Amino acid sequence: MRHPSELDLALYGGQDLGGWRKWCIGRHTARCESCAAAASRYASDSRAIATAARRMPPAFDWNRVAGEMRANIRVAIAAGECVAWPRPAARLPWRAALMATSVAALILTGWWVLLPQSLHRSAQSRATVNQSGVVLETTGFSIERRAEGATLALSHPSDERTVLTVNTDGVLRARYVDDDSGQVTINNVYAQ
Ligand SMILES: [Zn+2]
Repeated sequence: MRHPSELDLALYGGQDLGGWRKWCIGRHTARCESCAAAASRYASDSRAIATAARRMPPAFDWNRVAGEMRANIRVAIAAGECVAWPRPAARLPWRAALMATSVAALILTGWWVLLPQSLHRSAQSRATVNQSGVVLETTGFSIERRAEGATLALSHPSDERTVLTVNTDGVLRARYVDDDSGQVTINNVYAQ
């Protein structure tokens, strides 16, 4: 069932609708309890406003009162600007920035967790040591020692967890952990 808009119900309740629309909404409210209740509330509000308007003094000057209200609102805004309390407008960007940072951190964490293990390894293990013509380099799945055109590579199974460290003396160390046996293999390769 398609319900009339709040505006139409308000106009209907206030007897401000006519013709076809009045007939349609009358027909709908006869079958729909919630819309009938809303229209009834609008009708009672409309009656209360009409009663209040009748209690106004006969010589009530709306234009003068409106002018005074505008002046009072301007004074209140000016007074509010003089008071140095924390402004919501100034706090909002800070909170927005914090929220944006949290969301970015969440996305990055999710990306990192969902990244394939091999990419984790290669991203973590890229390292090169170049000392006196000897190059030690990790390729993601092995350590290579290159000197005078010859290459020595220490490879390890790609499904093992690996920690690679490099120190300033030209030593590349790889620590492989076998998840099944718990065995740890440590290789040190020196650039000498
Ligand atoms: Zn309805």
